[in-house]
Amino acid sequence: MKVAVIGGGIVGAAISAELSRLGATVTIFEAEAQFGTGATAAAIGGISPLSDDFIRAQLAPMCGDIFDAFWRLVQRCAEAGQAFPIVEEGLMYVALTPDDEARLTGPYRESLGDRFAVRWLPKGEALALEPTLTPALMGALLIPEEPALDPSSLLRSVLHLLSESGKVSVRLGTRVSELVDNMMTAVGRDGEVTVEEFDRIVIATGNDAALLPSPLRTSMVPVKGQALRLADPGSSHPLFAHHVYAHLPASGSDLNTSAYLVPRTDGSVVAGVTYEEQFPHDFVTVEGLHEITGGIRRLVPSARHWAMTAAWAGRRPATVDGGPIVGVLPGAEAVIYAMGHFGLGVTLAPLTAELVAEILGLSDRGLMAGGGYDPLSPERFH
Ligand SMILES: Cc1cc2nc3c(=O)[nH]c(=O)nc-3n(C[C@H](O)[C@H](O)[C@H](O)COP(=O)(O)OP(=O)(O)OC[C@H]3O[C@@H](n4cnc5c(N)ncnc54)[C@H](O)[C@@H]3O)c2cc1C
Repeated sequence: MKVAVIGGGIVGAAISAELSRLGATVTIFEAEAQFGTGATAAAIGGISPLSDDFIRAQLAPMCGDIFDAFWRLVQRCAEAGQAFPIVEEGLMYVALTPDDEARLTGPYRESLGDRFAVRWLPKGEALALEPTLTPALMGALLIPEEPALDPSSLLRSVLHLLSESGKVSVRLGTRVSELVDNMMTAVGRDGEVTVEEFDRIVIATGNDAALLPSPLRTSMVPVKGQALRLADPGSSHPLFAHHVYAHLPASGSDLNTSAYLVPRTDGSVVAGVTYEEQFPHDFVTVEGLHEITGGIRRLVPSARHWAMTAAWAGRRPATVDGGPIVGVLPGAEAVIYAMGHFGLGVTLAPLTAELVAEILGLSDRGLMAGGGYDPLSPERFH
């Protein structure tokens, strides 16, 4: 089977790795000169379907599959000699206020059910595990199932799988400008226009909706996020064993900021993060930095002495209902949509790849049986 994958972010790369592993001949079209320069470059790295406050409800039934697919991809990378560091201790979801403690120990904990080893850590236990956190915290929900990683390491390893497969060709700097059934028109770096035919075409263009039919196009609403990298000049060891998240009380800003920290092995910490629906541009703002650093100082008082070594912004590929789009439209089955992963594209890329393989008939894990993934279908917007 000859498949085109449009988009070289983490989602397109993971799909290409899975399809080529299962025998398809894949061509990846990426508009930019490199892989992973879109939303993937901005991601912090939490594998967080249980704790994500925005689309948790939609993803709840899928969490088992999400983690299974993630660990299968990690194992494949390791078997190819491409292991990368993972924060395996899990997520600590910290309560900073009595209201948050009541929410996390009550309805929130109940909504996670009994399938996961989630447990409440009273204040003393939380501080014993992460001593740099504020002594003013109420306690924390420990979610051991949620790992974290550096998304660029994952992408690098997946790209290695692609090159090893011998079944993937790559067209960097080539933008697909038009799709008609299974024919595509692409414009290369030198302006050369090519028209090619594929058996199936996968659209994994993140928040770029230009190739989508109009009702689907208007369902995409990018949500900007800002993040930064911090380092304690006095330490070269990882500053946390867990990744750490906290809801922040309203600050008067409309950036909807949470405090989120993911430690990297070099001793730095990636910190975020804002959710900005009304600002479609990609730059770091004074208010964004103010909100993020304010949240981080509240969670980790000693962070006020840390160095800020980088700051960036990206646009999450969100849909109007928050859920991703994975599937086909009736009557146009040559095209598979795999986009709109919002703030969880790194988390969802391995499962999306397995779903696309099943849609193409290349595998039969039984994921699609029983309609469990119907809520992700593009038909809901069509
Ligand atoms: C600040 C921030 C923090 C985040 N943190 C996390 C996190 O902790 N965990 C998590 O799971 N997710 C996180 N995310 C979300 C995650 O980054 C995205 O969901 C994910 O990167 C989407 O990947 P993608 O491959 O779909 O899109 P992209 O990475 O945007 O890739 C799409 C690619 O398609 C290419 N393209 C577009 N149109 C065309 C065309 N016509 N022809 C050819 N190529 C085309 C683009 O150039 C781009 O490279 C975060 C996002 C932000 C902004």
